Amino acid sequence: MFTLPALPFDKTALAPVIDANTIDFHYGKHHQTYVDKLNGLIADSGFKDWILEDIITTADGPIFNNAAQLWNHSFYRNCLRAPQENNMPSETLLHAIIAQRWTWDAFKELFSASALANFGSGWTRLVKNAEWQLEIMNTSNAWCPLTTGATPLLTIDIWEHAYYLQYQNRRAEYIEKRWTIVHWDFVGKCHSELP
Ligand code: MN
Repeated sequence: MFTLPALPFDKTALAPVIDANTIDFHYGKHHQTYVDKLNGLIADSGFKDWILEDIITTADGPIFNNAAQLWNHSFYRNCLRAPQENNMPSETLLHAIIAQRWTWDAFKELFSASALANFGSGWTRLVKNAEWQLEIMNTSNAWCPLTTGATPLLTIDIWEHAYYLQYQNRRAEYIEKRWTIVHWDFVGKCHSELP
């Protein structure tokens, strides 16, 4: 049986960028539903008692979708913290970004433009690929980076349920304001870990 991981911040902590009402629905309803559906689907399947990561890399269909979304949302929440002024990554991560031939501003613009252009429901991520290069990638629906050799570093949920209660159709505003609540310590930790 899987359980909903604890919220890594107070539900009011991300305001005004993401308000408590959005978190109540996104975490309390959507994330919880992925947990509940997954538990129901695996109860009488061969995946009962498997760890989440192994289900994600083995299952397909509804079991994959709910397992991957459980993992994707837990990762997404770890990428967030209370709004910070001048919110920047560590020197090490900044150097890695610059080594990719991006300036800091160019990196943010590219990531934001990718998230804005990601059609429909999905996720935009910064990953470290198998060649240890940083890469910005758009994926659809429940796709999960655990199914590849890429190490996820930073993600933004661009399913409408992530922002619509507060921003309605203003996805660009949600993407832009999100930069102030990126938890760069968590992103840096993911970047420094060996695969
Ligand atoms: Mn979501």
